[in-house]
Amino acid sequence: MKIICIGRNYSEHAKELGNEAPKEPLFFLKPDSAILPKRVPFYIPEFTNDLHYEVELLVKINRLGKHIEERFANEYYNQIGLGIDFTARDLQKECKSKGLPWEKAKAFDGSAIIGKEFIDKSEFESVQDISFSLNKNGDQVQLGNSKDMIFTIDAIISYVSQFFTLKIGDIIYTGTPSGVGPVKIGDKLEGFLGKKQLVSLDIK
Ligand code: MG
Repeated sequence: MKIICIGRNYSEHAKELGNEAPKEPLFFLKPDSAILPKRVPFYIPEFTNDLHYEVELLVKINRLGKHIEERFANEYYNQIGLGIDFTARDLQKECKSKGLPWEKAKAFDGSAIIGKEFIDKSEFESVQDISFSLNKNGDQVQLGNSKDMIFTIDAIISYVSQFFTLKIGDIIYTGTPSGVGPVKIGDKLEGFLGKKQLVSLDIK
């Protein structure tokens, strides 16, 4: 499986990092080795001094597809999840300033946190009105709602599938709202989809 991550999909977050809102979806990939296995502790990698959390809604692809029209995109996923796109912000800044790819800042082992379960999309009135949040040490640091996405889930699926065949089990990280920030050893992150806690992570 592959992990497709959308960047700058919430205008407030694009602004906080000094980026313009994109005119078409911006995306990058993480390999499946980026997923932190269940029950494996998360350690801050030695190569970064500025590791940031980014809480994001996840979409799990459940049907093979290529060149998917936006109006049919909703037939290619059934479940919504929650995850963290860990980013070595110092390395990313360096890569960006040199015009280099971001992978070492974004796709390293453990950089893809996936919440403990996916929720059937039928449980939501609209997939474009789902609130989600992240607490750090008990304080809310990020609060988002999918209605604020610049590109909807269906638009993302349609766009990405022009370039990549989507396969069953692929996961899309749909972008983070504003409030991203650093973690240090001893921090605790808790992610919520609505009121349901799906992520609980101790930073080691
Ligand atoms: Mg992200």
